[in-house]
Amino acid sequence: MIVTRFAPSPTGLLHLGHAFSAFTAYQAAREAGGRFLLRIEDIDPGRCKPQYAQALMEDLRWLGLTWEEPVRFQSEHGADYAAALERLRDMGLLYPCFCTRREIGELAAPQENDDAGPVYPGTCRGLSEGERAALAATRPCVWRLDMAGAIAMTGGLSWHDETRGEIAADPGRFGDVVLARKDVPTSYHLSVTVDDALQGVTLVTRGEDLFAATDVHRLLQALLGLPTPLYRHHRLLRDATGRRFAKRDKSLTLRALRQAGKTPRDVREMAGFDSLSF
Ligand code: GLU
Repeated sequence: MIVTRFAPSPTGLLHLGHAFSAFTAYQAAREAGGRFLLRIEDIDPGRCKPQYAQALMEDLRWLGLTWEEPVRFQSEHGADYAAALERLRDMGLLYPCFCTRREIGELAAPQENDDAGPVYPGTCRGLSEGERAALAATRPCVWRLDMAGAIAMTGGLSWHDETRGEIAADPGRFGDVVLARKDVPTSYHLSVTVDDALQGVTLVTRGEDLFAATDVHRLLQALLGLPTPLYRHHRLLRDATGRRFAKRDKSLTLRALRQAGKTPRDVREMAGFDSLSF
């Protein structure tokens, strides 16, 4: 049974690029007689707003999409992420990092993947318990994965992308990724990996901007004993000038298109899904 999901973060209104992504997941489930799930990735209270979660569900319904209830709101499942963190801590793979962003920026090697920020140089990895306790008294910490230790434990890993085939995972280039912080006691990498497993997702469809991140997810699956779904990273819709759609493209939010008189069928056509049946 194929199980797919659309997993938006409610940080703004959905645009045409989101509709494309949602249609991709919906169609993949539909064609296989499978299940389609919706997950609201609202772990960051500073950036996510409940009204955007409501608005996005309304927009998706307007488009004609239906999904299984209940919708999983990540903000309600902190205990699941805490359990995964605890497991990694027990394996000796999690350590507190007290560095400020500025300190990291000054020390870090430039990162291949700009979106992910600089690779952490590992400053806090080797601190003693005493040094940790002293720093904890004065500074907040984030929790990082000991990447080299994790890779040594799992050995070489791979995952399968439906378009590009077998991919050898290379999570090491991300360095010691942050898996939890004080204000957000989980992270994108951790919660997406845990949730795809808990929800029984068998085919992860998402934009190709997240292709590289899958290497980290594959590593976390191996460490946490979770199954590995299939992946289909789809192209990103671009505007007439070749830029990918983003929050700044206000005229292409589903809201704006609807207010401008477009029908759900028009939007499906604009996204290239005119043949999609419901
Ligand atoms: N929440 C992520 C986003 O909106 C997508 C996560 C995923 O599909 O893995 O970009």
